[in-house]
Parts: sequence; structure tokens; C-alpha cells
Amino acid sequence: MNNSAFQKESDPTITPKRPAIGTAYLVGAGPGDPGLLTVRACEVISQADVILYDRLIPSEALDYAREDAELVYVGKQGGGPSVSQSETNSLLLRYPLEGKSVVRLKGGDSFVFGRGGEEALALKEAGIPFEVIPGITAGLAATAYAGIPVTHREMSSSVAFVTGHEDPTKPNQAVDWDALAQFPGTLVFYMGVRALDGIASRLIAAGREPNEPAAVIERGTLPHQRTVTGKLHEIADIAKRSEIRPPAITVIGPVTSFATQLGWAQARPLHGYTVAVTRARAQASTFSARLRNLGAAVVETPMIRTVPLPAKLPNFNHYDLICLTSPNGVDQLFARLTESRLDARCLAACKIAAIGPGTATQLEQHGIYADLIPKRAVAEGLVETLEGTELNNVLIVRGSNGRDVLPDALRARGVNVEFLILYETIAEKPEADTLLRAAEADFITFTSGSTARFFIEAAGTEVLQNPTVVSIGPATTSVLNDYGVTADTEATEHTLDGLIDTLVGLTQSATSKSRSGHSNRDSSKSA
Ligand code: SAH
Repeated sequence: MNNSAFQKESDPTITPKRPAIGTAYLVGAGPGDPGLLTVRACEVISQADVILYDRLIPSEALDYAREDAELVYVGKQGGGPSVSQSETNSLLLRYPLEGKSVVRLKGGDSFVFGRGGEEALALKEAGIPFEVIPGITAGLAATAYAGIPVTHREMSSSVAFVTGHEDPTKPNQAVDWDALAQFPGTLVFYMGVRALDGIASRLIAAGREPNEPAAVIERGTLPHQRTVTGKLHEIADIAKRSEIRPPAITVIGPVTSFATQLGWAQARPLHGYTVAVTRARAQASTFSARLRNLGAAVVETPMIRTVPLPAKLPNFNHYDLICLTSPNGVDQLFARLTESRLDARCLAACKIAAIGPGTATQLEQHGIYADLIPKRAVAEGLVETLEGTELNNVLIVRGSNGRDVLPDALRARGVNVEFLILYETIAEKPEADTLLRAAEADFITFTSGSTARFFIEAAGTEVLQNPTVVSIGPATTSVLNDYGVTADTEATEHTLDGLIDTLVGLTQSATSKSRSGHSNRDSSKSA
């Protein structure tokens, strides 16, 4: 979903007037996958003055917040105790009483083991207007992603969501174990993995069938989601051996046996793999989204940024051919045309070449279908495609650090080559922890020579030892080689699609150097 779909700016036609009391929103943010935030959740997040948020929310939820919103973390402090409920409640009341709207953002659903009931009561008692926006609870979301239908016409006509103390052997249990053992349906436990042994023993002691199928789902809906399955009497052991960590839910019931057949999330080709993307922030999102759709965890480590350079537009009628060598070049060209109140008609007299499908697609956005697109999306490919075409004057639109392959080849043929240099690619300075996460990724992708160059200049070559280094094409590979780095793989087709196909191919043959993602995959596969 696009953040810009939500109005962040106040409407200038309406005079802002702070109400005496702000509204409080108890918002469920879903179990982790940012795609499971509801439209209404995004809407209120994008309007809130203050956001009180928890540990288990998708971090992307906060991207919807206004720039000037106050973000207050009220979850656990570094594994220690959480901000107390009474402190959270007092914050929840304080901001609305100052006239501010506040969003209380919780993992899953606020009313499912989220203490939303207590918070709503506190608001009611204080006379503060509030809304409750449901979220997708982990018990429904993690199960759905694991391929476990919590109800089934023939197998289970009811489902119970259960939580309780960490230690089910302690007295004063909120959970009625005898009743649960008799419950005629699926049981979903929101409890720490440490409690699992106790849960299973208590249920079996109270008469639940020890051979009933069970499953534990770790990090439900997140890129590294894992499911382990077994019989009730052995599930605690299996979870322990598989080193299942929180957050996890345990599901007990015959429906859990569907996980092997219907576990679609783990079956996605890049599931369990982390891919580092070094593209410029502005261009990374579509690529990253496609990787995520294939199940990958993506670490965005933007290494470059393009900045416009001043340029004087030539008379385009003078050229027989205009070559566009990047999608960014296309956008820059049309931005300049717009500034001069010109449009695509000023390019009507010449043929237009795009270096590859990405550039061609960008041209289409501006209403131009390229006359030439080489089969191989590199300068050499364009040179080959132009062989035999009669040319006198060619204009190359590009950034300041473009390669010389195309102009050299054209000049060698006696063609007059001119440049329209519209932008400069400069280094982006990544955070140290982002670089660290990239170094721990299974794959690191380089989609241009400049991303490779700036990455190595910022991070050195050491960090490239763990991840499998994937290059989009020969020009990028040659930059890597200049720094003494060998690309483990080069995309067969030198486009983003080609790169993604190559990644998928690699995971199918599992030749990645890294162990991190694989340990996840292996244990999940053996489960
Ligand atoms: N309000 C939340 C639950 C909070 S209790 C909801 O509706 O989902 C916290 C427990 O929820 C965790 O201990 C774990 O058992 C479960 N949980 C939360 N997120 C999870 C996830 N992504 N995968 C598996 N279990 C999760």
C-alpha cells in the first residue's frame, strides 16, 4: 500500500482547530507482515499527533506516521520489563487531555490478549472519546500463513484462543485445563515456548488425546516464519530441538495436519532468505516488493542517490537518434521538459532507443514507445542493435558517470555523438547496522556499477565474504572485479526480472554460501 494514499497534510481550506479533548484510537497492527495492517489503521496512524507503540508491531506501521508525530515506545526495554500498564494508561489519557489525538498501536488485535479492554475502560472513565480498530490476531494470521484452517467442516467446528501464565503448573491458573482438554475444537495457545511442555502435559493429564496433531508457528507472517508439527505428547520436544523462539503460537487439533500440504508462505521460493538491495532508495521499492512477494526478507542498503545537474536542453530535431540509458535519465529528461513547458512532441523528429526494458517502461509512462530496445540490456547490446542503422547525429541522455562503450563505438563509425548529462550519482552513507545486516544477508544484489563501487568504498570487501554476491550484468561485475571481488553469480538476463529469476534459480539449487537463512529453511523443511 502506498503511504501517499493517506492524507498527511492538513487541508488548507479548513482552519485547524484543536478540540478540547483529542480522540484515542486503540489500533491492532496485525501480527508482523505490514501488508496485514488495515486501511483504517493506516488512516488513523497517518493522522495521529502521538503514537504509543509496542514491541510486536510491524516497524513499517510507523512509516505512515506524520513527520511531526510524537512516537513513544511503551514496550519491553531491551528484554527487560515493559512500561507498566498504569504508565501506559496514564500516557493514553494525558495526550487526549492536551487536545492531541493518540494512537495506541498493538501487535495483532488490541482486544485479543492485548489489554485493550482495560485501556478502553480507562478512556471511558476519563470521558475521552475513543475508537477501537481491530487488527488481525496472531492466532488467525500465523495459522493462515502456515496453511492451517482453524475450523474445517469435517474436523473442527470451534476454535479457542487461550493464554495464561508462562508456567501452567503454577497455582491460581486463569486457564481451566480440564475444560480445555474437553473442548471440542482447535486450541490456539498464545504463550511462550517455554510453557509448551507444561501445556501439553496438563492437557494430556486432563484427558486430551496424546496423539492429537499439533503445530508451533514461530514468527507468523514474517519473512522467517517457521512451522514445526508433531503429536501433542512430543510437540514440546520437537519445538525445543528446532530451537523455536518467541513470538510463537501453538495450535492443537487435527486441522494442523494441513500445514504440510497448505503451508504456502514457507513454500515461496525466497522464503527464509535475506536479500540485501543496494539500489537507490527512490528505485528500491518495486524491486524490494517483488522480492518480498517471493517470501524474502529484504535489507535495503541504498548506496547511491541521484541528484539533478543543471543542463541546457538542445534542439532535439537535430538528432536522428536519442539514446536513454537509465529509467532515471528518462524521468530527469521529462522533468526538464516540463520545467520548460515542453512535452513529448519535441522528440517527435527522432528515433528513440532505450538501453533495456526498465528504461523502456519508464518511457512508456511518458507516452513514448521506444523504437529500439536491445536484447541484451547493456551498452554493448545497444551497439550491436544499432549496427547497420544509418546514423549521423546521436544524442545520449545519461548521468555524469556513464560508460563510454556506446559513444566510443558510435564515434568509431564516424557518427557525431553529443551528450545531455542530466544527473550525477553520488554515494549514500548507510548506517553501520544496516551494513552489518547486509553482511549477514544470504544474498547481496548489485544492480549497477555505482552501487557496487560505493558499497565497497563504504564497507570494504570483508562484508562480502558471507553473502552470495549477485550482479545484474557484465558492467557491474567488472566494477566488482576492479575491487578484487568475484561476483558469485551474474544474472543471465541483465534486468531486474533477470536478477530475480537468477536468485530464485540459486535458491532452488541451494548453492548460497550463507548458513543463516539455510538453517531456518532446513529445520522448517525437516519439520
Ligand atoms: N494482541 C496480540 C497478542 C498479544 S500476546 C494478537 O492479537 O495477536 C503475545 C503473544 O502473541 C506472543 O507471545 C505469541 O504467542 C503471539 N504472537 C504475536 N505475534 C506473533 C507472530 N507473529 N507469530 C506467532 N505468534 C505471535
